[in-house]
Amino acid sequence: MARERRVVAVSGSASGMGKAVCGHFQRTGSRVIGIDIREAEVIADLRLPTGRKAASESVIEAAGGRLDTVVACAGLGPHVRPESDIVRVNYFGAVNLLDDLLPTLQRGEAPAAVVIASNSASLTPRDDALLAALERDDEEESASLAETAGGIAAYGMSKLALVRAIRHRARAWGNAGVRINSVAPGPIDTPMLEGIVANEALRNVIDALPIPLSRRGTVTEVAATIAFLADPANGYIHGVTLFVDGGSDAEIRPEAI
Ligand code: NAD
Repeated sequence: MARERRVVAVSGSASGMGKAVCGHFQRTGSRVIGIDIREAEVIADLRLPTGRKAASESVIEAAGGRLDTVVACAGLGPHVRPESDIVRVNYFGAVNLLDDLLPTLQRGEAPAAVVIASNSASLTPRDDALLAALERDDEEESASLAETAGGIAAYGMSKLALVRAIRHRARAWGNAGVRINSVAPGPIDTPMLEGIVANEALRNVIDALPIPLSRRGTVTEVAATIAFLADPANGYIHGVTLFVDGGSDAEIRPEAI
């Protein structure tokens, strides 16, 4: 029998896009379980394997063993040090949480997961060694390589590996009856972006990005796109990455499809 309210777990719920996603789902009648290192129903440090495990266990308990939607928003920007924390949260923190919650999503109704990647996934110059370590799920090697690669590479490769991890899961998750998709935002006005542009070198990178719509995005625009991907009405969308970047990826890579 269908429950009255959909149950949604959101990581990174305390700030920025995660907070906006929580607001969207709450306003539209879902029960939301927030996960964050601070100010959340489930407090957990997604840098650590133990924190990820504790997070998934607490979410499963809070959800009563059934989840309809998981949205993975928690992340650290390229300005954060040490750079190892960027790959630990952005890649391993997302993928481990999603995999741990799959059986609980399978018991949900028209279930779906949505992950926030970034257009940095396609626009950052490749660091093949770091990308390969991430794709092997070798956390300690990835963490070590991130510290020599620097923040921009650590951020971009963590998001590229995340997009690929979602595509690699399309068959298994599809067969399990759970959709999984990602969004790839460009610069969105959030506390993270404030931290990024406070660094002059990173501000120059952001300012140099061509944006056909000539503005930054808002958290409500990203939350609406995430809600669209999670909506059972759009139930044939699976394994995609939807750019929410004012057209930057299209302008820079017009022939990428
Ligand atoms: P934000 O800093 O406002 O929010 C990120 C949230 O993640 C915070 O609440 C923070 O406490 C949480 N978090 C960080 N480390 C954590 C940890 N170890 N354990 C648990 N929670 C942790 O950032 P935002 O801009 O809203 O970013 C949300 C997502 O969007 C991130 O994955 C980010 O990489 C991605 N993104 C942001 C932009 C942008 O321009 N803001 C662009 C593309 C992608």
